[in-house]
Amino acid sequence: MRLTVLGCAGSFPGPDSACSAYLVEADGFRLLVDFGSGSLSALQRYAGLSAVDAILLTHLHFDHISDAVDYVVVRRYAPDGSLPALPVYAPAGAPDRIAAAYSQDEGGVEDVYTFYGLQPGSFPIGPFTVTVDRMNHPVETYGVRLEHDGRALCYSADTAPCEALLRLAEGVDLFLCEASYLDGADNPPDLHLTGREAGEIATKAEVGQLLLTHLVAAWGSEAITFDAAATAFAGPIEIVRPGASYQI
Ligand SMILES: [Zn+2]
Repeated sequence: MRLTVLGCAGSFPGPDSACSAYLVEADGFRLLVDFGSGSLSALQRYAGLSAVDAILLTHLHFDHISDAVDYVVVRRYAPDGSLPALPVYAPAGAPDRIAAAYSQDEGGVEDVYTFYGLQPGSFPIGPFTVTVDRMNHPVETYGVRLEHDGRALCYSADTAPCEALLRLAEGVDLFLCEASYLDGADNPPDLHLTGREAGEIATKAEVGQLLLTHLVAAWGSEAITFDAAATAFAGPIEIVRPGASYQI
């Protein structure tokens, strides 16, 4: 498997990054996990405008789905003819949400996307075995475990600490985990993780490598988040960047 970070900014685009979007490839199949604000630009820069075979949207907060709206134009109005409908795995409200955001007057987007609702469990997407489970976040949100050829990747999506994330992350080679908050701040409960909490989950789950993402550049501190994670996890840690790519 190969993971390429298209966007990693938390909650709104940062000065140097689009919002959440991760391209995961195996056997030539390209799964885009989340499609946040500005990441359509990064998709073209780091992969290609149509370099997507399926999409998985972890939840319907706009910073994780907004460019799936712009992408309707790319697929529907391609100069050489409409591109085939893409499978989109997402919470049940996705078709209405994306269609309404695209246009109030032009109907649905089923010509562009074939939607599949998510629920906790395992299923295949292309060459991947995908396992999703509900996270601790105010809207229906799924953490994701992707397995291929004996290797495993877990992506937390957005979440506060929860047992389901610990299960998904168990023993993965690479744990891509959000770290939106700073310890000691007046953080709302049941929403996001701190670097320390990400590190604690990484240690409990015995992951190989911890990648921190979804930092909010304007409100946080990379140095503090990294150090907090390092106090709780002794393995390799990185804060991800747009364009960074990891062989798993
Ligand atoms: Zn969210």
